[in-house]
Parts: sequence; structure tokens; C-alpha cells
Amino acid sequence: MAVWSFERSVCWGWSFLVPIAAPAASAASTARVAMSATTMDTQALALPSLPPSSVYVNLPFCRRRCFYCDFPIKVVGDRPGAAAAAAKPYVDNVVREIRATAAAAAIEAPKLPARGGAGGDDTMEHSGRGGGVKTLFFGGGTPSLCPPELVGLLIETVRNCYGIAAGAEISIEMDPGTFDEARLEAFLALGITRVSMGVQSFDAGLLEACGRAHSLADVYQAVELLRKAKVDNFSIDLMSGLPKQTVEQWEHTLSEAIATGAAHISVYDLQVEAGTPFGRWFSPGEAPLPEDETCADMYRTASGVLGQAGYDHYEISNYARPGFQSRHNRAYWENVPFLAFGNGAASFVDGYRFSRPRGLPEYGQWVGELEEEGWDKATGAPRRAACEEVLPGGGGMGDGAGAEESRPSREALERDALLDDVMLGFRLKEGLDLRVVASKYGHSAARRVEEGATEGMRQGWVVRDTAARGSRGGDAGAGGEKGGRNVGRVDDDFVYDGGRGSSSTLGAGSAAGDVGDHGRTSPGRGFPDDRSGGQEDRRAEVASDGGPRGEWGTLRLSDPDGFLFSNSVISSVFCELDGWKRCDQEQDGGVAAADR
Ligand code: SF4
Repeated sequence: MAVWSFERSVCWGWSFLVPIAAPAASAASTARVAMSATTMDTQALALPSLPPSSVYVNLPFCRRRCFYCDFPIKVVGDRPGAAAAAAKPYVDNVVREIRATAAAAAIEAPKLPARGGAGGDDTMEHSGRGGGVKTLFFGGGTPSLCPPELVGLLIETVRNCYGIAAGAEISIEMDPGTFDEARLEAFLALGITRVSMGVQSFDAGLLEACGRAHSLADVYQAVELLRKAKVDNFSIDLMSGLPKQTVEQWEHTLSEAIATGAAHISVYDLQVEAGTPFGRWFSPGEAPLPEDETCADMYRTASGVLGQAGYDHYEISNYARPGFQSRHNRAYWENVPFLAFGNGAASFVDGYRFSRPRGLPEYGQWVGELEEEGWDKATGAPRRAACEEVLPGGGGMGDGAGAEESRPSREALERDALLDDVMLGFRLKEGLDLRVVASKYGHSAARRVEEGATEGMRQGWVVRDTAARGSRGGDAGAGGEKGGRNVGRVDDDFVYDGGRGSSSTLGAGSAAGDVGDHGRTSPGRGFPDDRSGGQEDRRAEVASDGGPRGEWGTLRLSDPDGFLFSNSVISSVFCELDGWKRCDQEQDGGVAAADR
């Protein structure tokens, strides 16, 4: 299940498109082709200009639409063969898009071993250039409804166009009730290394209340199938804040999820989206939905329970056992360029975020235009595709003509990139490295970020680490897990260059984060063992005066309260950055003495 939410800047009033699990476009994006640019060098912008490290493929078919879902899916029902019949022409279009994109960039697939997958290569390079795809993610939708041979065709197409590195992480979302032993074996035979399963709840009544297509019995059967097939690297998605859900039910769901032996657990708070049945039936914070305080309590409970069970809370919504962080999702959070294919999918290459049409007919037509015209080097869009929205600033684009005039200013692009870095840097537990901010945007930017976080530091939601950062918070390790099958226990300390220099690799990524999920304003009930929020790390220096000059250090959110109040912290930083502009000395690469 792909999960998205929006975060709106309280200061600037424009929206961030927020990838959490998979880059499908938000329902709120009505533009046929939406694009934003976040780069400092507009002249270098051209979508397919580099071989990607990460590739996302959207497979949008579901048996029915869950009551809270606004993703760009196609409902196929339960009739046998229906999903396969719908998937065939769609996958053909995706294959055409992958080929057309690679052809436009004249990318040659590197000569690599025939198969990625098991037996990780811990010596592989993660530069993002020329080494082949390191992470490939099939999301949706319910990708497990697609016949394995079609997924295999997509894998081979990616391999032929871009190469797939040995040891690559290849993930697929599989919902309970959509696969049996033979189908699972068929997927694993393709080189799938990681399964992400949309469970949402271990309460039968809540599954029904959410309109899920699967039963609780389906969940347990699916877990048993994974166990039998020795799939160690699987993740479970859970949702809190569901109608009538109690903290006790939530604790039961967490303990059942832990009992499955899942290597990774994602926890999302329900977002009530307009246009969905939940959007018509419910208002956030009002019965039968839990109150904000209860939802905050659920978040703290998840952090405490999963932490005690050995899961590392490495990102606002994600927990992993050592060696099992999602490498693909880290690419989003670290602002690494990635390609995305399929309806509604959003790519991020050379500073441009680019969303494909959501509807299947429109998507098919768009692929035809791409084949015919290729990518526009100036705008990063297919030459004939109308771009109706450019964020931030700028007006709509026509058919390429006038695109130059419509581009956001350099200042707007740079400010956007800085905001992205702040947003994503805070969502990872490693936090935001102010040295990186100072290096990329100048000391004035780092100082403003620091000042914007001052109130958060006073509250204990932001802590400053001044110790030199060695390896990032990722847990190292390579090779397969004992007895595991296609296990992706690989190096989570996955350093990308992203094709844009070395200063963006330390968790100061950009794009956007799902801070809206947990940006609740009510403190709720403290979790007994972690009531103090950011005081859990004695190495951290909590500074309320902006910290020592000359030693920027890293600002990170405390767990759980810093993560819980991330919305407030990030809003404060954004307010401080409002109107920020790099001064001339910094633009020239020097340190602005007057700004210190
Ligand atoms: S399984 Fe439900 S939530 Fe997931 S994409 Fe399909 S309809 Fe949406």
C-alpha cells in the first residue's frame, strides 16, 4: 500500500507532496502532470539524465477500495482472472515508459551479473551512477494481484534498461488473501528480496470497518506462507487511529505483529482524506475516531512496545530489526534521485519531482506522447505534456513554449531545496546535520534552522548531537540471514551520492516528510518508560541558545515526543526560514562573515 499525506507550510501556504511508502501521486494533485523543481542549477535539469539507483513501479490494481484510500487505483473485484486481464495492457504501457525513458537518456545498461537478489554484494558501490539499480520497489495498489510473469517482465525491462546491481533490494507489496504458496514461490523465483504486507490491524472488526478486502484469517495464513517459504525480510504495515479503535486493541495489534517475526514494521496514523467514504463519514478527532490524545498515546505506545521488542525506530513511521531498514524508502528520505514508472507515480531526478497522470487511459496516452516526443531537456517533462503546476512560485506551463519564463527563480528553487532538506532530515532518527546545511546553503541558513528549532529544544522535542557523526544511524551488515530465503539483510548504511556531490548524503535529504501524520498538538498520556521525550540520550547536548558557534552538530527529534510534535518543530523552522535568501558571499562559495 502506498501511503501519502500532505504537509502545508504554516508560513508559506504551499503544499508538499509527501512520499511515505511509495511515490504515487496524491489525490489532491489534480494537475495532469505536476512537477516541482528543487535544484540550484536549473540549466542542468533534465529528467532522464542519470542512471537511477532506485526505481519505483506502480501496480494499481485492488480487489476493492478501502474506505480511507484515495490512491490512484483500479478496482478489479474478486473474479478470477480479472486482475490479470486488467494488468496485461497496463504493464505493456509501463514497459514502454521504462524503455522510452531510458532511450531518451541514451542510458546503457551496465554489464552486471544476471541476477540481483540473494547473496548481497557488500562491496557494491552506491554512487547512483553506472552501478545499476540498487533498490526496486513494486507498490500500488496491490502488486501481488499482478501475475508473477508480468512482474518478471517489468524486472527484466528494468534490468535491460538500467541494470540491476548484485545484492539489490527488490520489494513487492503483497496483501493477505492475494497469494498462495505457488504464487509466493513464483514471485520469489523472480529475485524478490523483500515483501511488504498491508495488514493494518490484527482486529477482525477493524479490518471490516476499514473496508479491507482480506480477513484476519487471511493475515495469519499469509504470515504462515512467508514463514514456510523462509522469507525473513518482510514488513508489516499497521494503522492506528481507526474508528472505535482503543489503545488496548492497538497494543494487541502491535504484539501480534511482533509475534509474526516481521523484520520491519511501519506504523501510520489514519489520515481522513476528502472524497473517501471515511472523509464523508468522519471528522478527525471526533467519534467514532479516537481523540487526538488517544492517537498520540497510540504513537507513544508503538514506540515503546516496538522498541522493547528490539525494533529500531529509525524513521518517524518505521521500525526495523538490525539490518532490515527499507533501503528503498531511505532513498526517498535521503533525497536521492529515483525514477518512478506507472500511473500516478512520481519521480525525482535532477531536482524535479514529476507525477504521471493518475487515470489509466490518460497514463496510456501520456506514454504514447513520451515515445513520440521524448523528454524535454528544459522542463524535465515529456515535450508535449502540459505542465499545469510548478511549485513553488511560477505559473503554469504550456506545451513547452514559455517554459523558460515559467521557471521558479533560483532563490525559490534553493529555498525549496532547503525546506526539503529540513523536512526529510528531521524525519530520520539521525536528524539534520547542520554542517551539511551550512555547506550546501551557507551559514545563514544553518543559523536560521538552529534558531527555528530553539523552542523545540526547550521543550525537549529537539536534541543536539555534537559528537562527530561516523556512520549514519543505519545498521550495517551484509549477506544473507541464517536459513533465510532471498533475504535482504544488507548494508543499511547505504551511502548515495545521488549524482550531485557529496554534501547531501548524511540524512539531510530533501523532498518532504509525513510530519502531518503525527503533528498532533495534544500531549496525550506519556509512555511509562520514555516519558521524558528527548532526554533519552545522555550524549545529547540540549541547547536553548542555539548552540556553540563553530560546532553545528546535528539536530534530531526525540523519540517519541519529538517525532510526535514534528509538525510543530518543522513549522517553527520554516517560519524562521521564511524570506531566507543566500547572501552574495555565500553564493560565491565563501563564508559570509557578516552572517556569523
Ligand atoms: S489495498 Fe486498500 S489502501 Fe491499499 S491501495 Fe488498495 S484500496 Fe488503497
